[in-house]
Amino acid sequence: MRKKICAGNWKMYKTPKEAGEFFDSILASLKSNVKGGEIVIFPPALVCESVAKYVNGSSVHWGLQNSYFESKGAFTGENSPDVAKAMGATYVLVGHSERRKIFSESDSLLAKKVAYVQSIGLTPMLCVGEDLSERETGRTNEVILGQLDEGLKSADRKKPFVIAYEPVWAIGTGKVATPEQAEEAHVALRERLGGLGESTRILYGGSVKPENAGELAAKKNIDGFLVGGASLEAKGFLQILSSLQ
Ligand code: PEP
Repeated sequence: MRKKICAGNWKMYKTPKEAGEFFDSILASLKSNVKGGEIVIFPPALVCESVAKYVNGSSVHWGLQNSYFESKGAFTGENSPDVAKAMGATYVLVGHSERRKIFSESDSLLAKKVAYVQSIGLTPMLCVGEDLSERETGRTNEVILGQLDEGLKSADRKKPFVIAYEPVWAIGTGKVATPEQAEEAHVALRERLGGLGESTRILYGGSVKPENAGELAAKKNIDGFLVGGASLEAKGFLQILSSLQ
């Protein structure tokens, strides 16, 4: 049985104070028995320390939105995954479409990040997804399976990793994939993982909201969500979490 995940990508939103307000609400609700799976929050790097103070020792996990693939060195502006680990992080998001598109991160760079993150005992959450023209020209599987193969090229497949299927055309657009479109992609990814397919958690991301989470969560191969905009507000995020019960 794959444990479901409800992950929130805060992108470059929230101050430390706002993060505190969010967790006051989330942690109180978890105590009063709101269930649905593992919660993972990806705060902006400058807010990680505040998040760690709130959630370390609770059932909530947190991670970096991006990291470098070395522990330390002359890499101005980069985040050390080792330091994040020492602060209590357990996950690193790798290859979000905003990193791929805006910051030109290549599959080969992402493969190094996945391997390094695993090597220090953190769990990479590798994002894959096609853009609109790729979908419209029937290339969805070619693109997402290619990103999967390349991203895991140097991975240790015996160590944990999570996949997030995030169609680029659905991220931040309000245009969610239909449950059938998402399920189809998840099945293709699971099949490509071969013997590991059955145990690997594959999340859906792209305009997930409380209103559409239930029908997506009902699909057999959707093991949870990576949520952007709707993860900024505790009430909606908890409703999405509840849909995973
Ligand atoms: C994301 O940032 O990964 C994401 C899926 O964003 P949104 O939920 O806002 O589409």
